Amino acid sequence: MSGERGYDPILLAEAVRRMVARGSERRYYRFRGGRWYGGIATADCVGCNLRCVFCWGWRVRDRPSGAGRFYSPEEVYERLASIAGRRGYRLVRISGNEPTIAWDHLLRVIELLEADGRFRFVLETNGILIGADKSKARDLSKFSSVHVRVSLKGASEEEFHLLTGARREFYRLQLEALRNLLDEGVPAHPAVMLSFSEPRAVDELKARLAEIDRSLVEEFEEEYVFLYPHVVEQLRRAGLQPRVAFEPDNIPEELV
Ligand code: SF4
Repeated sequence: MSGERGYDPILLAEAVRRMVARGSERRYYRFRGGRWYGGIATADCVGCNLRCVFCWGWRVRDRPSGAGRFYSPEEVYERLASIAGRRGYRLVRISGNEPTIAWDHLLRVIELLEADGRFRFVLETNGILIGADKSKARDLSKFSSVHVRVSLKGASEEEFHLLTGARREFYRLQLEALRNLLDEGVPAHPAVMLSFSEPRAVDELKARLAEIDRSLVEEFEEEYVFLYPHVVEQLRRAGLQPRVAFEPDNIPEELV
């Protein structure tokens, strides 16, 4: 029965896409430089197909029609290249909400960056749509400048449901995304929200990742929640207590 509780993030992706994509354009709410990864230019997009309790982009996520404005792939490329060029960054990314919802738009942005030749593109994604459709991993395999960071929401189906409110069986698609990407030769690694995980659950997840590929355990990145006031309130309502978390004083300035 518990497998039926929650929403379907693939259906939600389609509903959100209709609000944040228009032809080849997509909504963005911010372009910025920042110190992550030693310096990276970031385009913050609008719209996500999950509803994580710890989300720092929740304001735009929850009112996608009213946030930011539509940008063409050319405009996004120009903004990213301009920020990265000015600051001497080699890395660029789309972050904020979920980049994969507007797939054709995303591919066009990557194409433009690849043709430029100066940058590496970090695709930060929850992976659900890539796990559900292997052709998306194949699309990415055509590029040599892409690295995918799949952000796993918890260490198990149960944690995924608690943290996102989505149906627990969709957690598997996050792991499938990693499998599909590696099968297609696309560099990828998992970043895992572990604030709520028992050590045993982390060990079990690592065993599941090792079955896909040993490199996923070697490149396993740990993520922990930042205790923004709205996150504390959401966690309280959900009855969730993080085992490990960062205080707002320690939040990197580019996330504020
Ligand atoms: S996947 Fe990322 S953007 Fe979407 S709700 Fe979760 S934390 Fe927020």
